[in-house]
Amino acid sequence: MIDSHCHLDDAYFAAERSAVLDRARQIGVTAFVCVGVGRGTAAAEEAVALAAREPDIFATVGVHPHDAAVTTEAQWAELDRLARAPRVVGVGETGLDYHYEHSPRDVQQLAYRRSIALARATGLPVVSHVRDAHLDAAAILAAEAPAAGGVIHCFTGGVAEARAYLDLGHYLSFSGILTFKNAGNVREAAAFAPLDRILVETDAPYLAPIPHRGGRNEPAFIAETLGTLAGLRGLPAAEIDRATSENTRRVFRLPNAADSAARD
Ligand SMILES: [Zn+2]
Repeated sequence: MIDSHCHLDDAYFAAERSAVLDRARQIGVTAFVCVGVGRGTAAAEEAVALAAREPDIFATVGVHPHDAAVTTEAQWAELDRLARAPRVVGVGETGLDYHYEHSPRDVQQLAYRRSIALARATGLPVVSHVRDAHLDAAAILAAEAPAAGGVIHCFTGGVAEARAYLDLGHYLSFSGILTFKNAGNVREAAAFAPLDRILVETDAPYLAPIPHRGGRNEPAFIAETLGTLAGLRGLPAAEIDRATSENTRRVFRLPNAADSAARD
């Protein structure tokens, strides 16, 4: 299994991080995409450093839509540099969040466009965070057309929204939300999307799946989401694991794990 989106910042996991990673490795997680956003560029720097130390961790760097209004030019310049560091496999998470609207919508849109421009310049895929803003996000993705495509992380739409992103060439990543009672539309989208276009993620430390809901999430809980996805699609979990792992490696262009055979 691959956790295609988790936050492993010192702020969340500091002292316990190696135990958290080991629990995930023990149940068969072979790679982690560590998303470095927030606290200026501190989280991005941590993600890049972590990826340099751990062979199964890869990094993304970016500006979260929540932080669009507070990101300085100096921080944008630093992100531009970090995006070119070894083992950085994507730009983000960036995007639009009209639910919390911590930054004004027009400022979020500009930051999203700027992030996609960085993705184009570096040849990296874009990791998009979209909440209550699917129409505007799809329009920006269509206009800015990141050449390496990208992932709609923690997808929260239904079939219509899924179709729009898939038509633009993006992948959909499903989180623990799939296990929540009130997420019928997301489950429909997860059953609808082609098998070669879906990913799984924890978004740890957020969004712990049932039965861990309400507590701190961690990459080992990816198994719950993967199992739910397998049930929805009527396929064995091993098949969903194989497909989502391949898809994650394809979109982020991760090297093939030498240990992926041993796990099976
Ligand atoms: Zn995230």
